[in-house]
Amino acid sequence: MKKYGFGVDIGGTTCKIGLFETTGQLVEKWEIPTNTQDAGKNILPDVAASLNGKMQERGISRDEIEGIGIGIPGPVQADGSVAVCVNLGWKNVDVPKEMGALMEGILVKAGNDANVAALGEMWQGGGKGCKSLIMVTLGTGVGGGIIVDEKIVAGTHGAGGEIGHIVVNPHEKIACNCGRKGCLEQYCSATGIVRIAKEFLAEGHEASLLDKAEEVSAKTVFDTYKENDALAVKIVEKFAYILGHALSNFACVTDPEVFVIGGGVSKAGEPLIEIVNKYYKKDAFSSCTDIKFALASLGNDAGMYGCVRLILE
Ligand SMILES: [Zn+2]
Repeated sequence: MKKYGFGVDIGGTTCKIGLFETTGQLVEKWEIPTNTQDAGKNILPDVAASLNGKMQERGISRDEIEGIGIGIPGPVQADGSVAVCVNLGWKNVDVPKEMGALMEGILVKAGNDANVAALGEMWQGGGKGCKSLIMVTLGTGVGGGIIVDEKIVAGTHGAGGEIGHIVVNPHEKIACNCGRKGCLEQYCSATGIVRIAKEFLAEGHEASLLDKAEEVSAKTVFDTYKENDALAVKIVEKFAYILGHALSNFACVTDPEVFVIGGGVSKAGEPLIEIVNKYYKKDAFSSCTDIKFALASLGNDAGMYGCVRLILE
């Protein structure tokens, strides 16, 4: 194993880049802007220039680089190629081949950003020491990544792990961003939690701290939940029931060692994990009741970590 690897998490506005030791130690991280003009044709050359510049600055030769892992904000095939990535303006980009040519033959691998984040959490984060996990990212939407035996389950179309779009309510009338109705994301994302909260607030209810809140957000809901506010408890219990129930179904598919919960909503911390776990246990298949719950611990760096882990396979 060579000493260093690069993890490059390409987002729609910035690329987060990390120089790592292949032991898992982050040496340095920085960001460059993502130039999505001209169908995103400059993105990989910009990243290559930045990596070459860093190697020069630190006097690191290409013989010391094990490889470069790249996270993409869209579906990625198992071979690292991208058919369409709306966020970057890409069509038919063979990331390992194009980036490999730009970096004169250094090994390049690519994966979907949510999937590599799950791999990063397995390697150095909330799932450290585990070989199989399901990561759930509760942010503006609900993302996810599934790792089985230390490998990302990317699937045939790169849509493996899109757990936010499992339908949990077939009676839903409002469409999700994806076009389906009743997706997990419609209830358990930050926006979904606000939606549940507003439904409860619109009904007759006991006096609640949320009545006085300037803005009802997932954070205010969890903050008032921690104060034992009766209405916030009802809102969080509905959220936890929906998420816990969905996870009990996921467990029947890959039977992970741990569920790692990340994203902005997970800042609510242990109380969130505890209540989701409580509802999970109620519905879990008997062999899967003891699956652990953990908070993601790498934050926005998880993708970079996972990108590096990708090249160590
Ligand atoms: Zn959906």
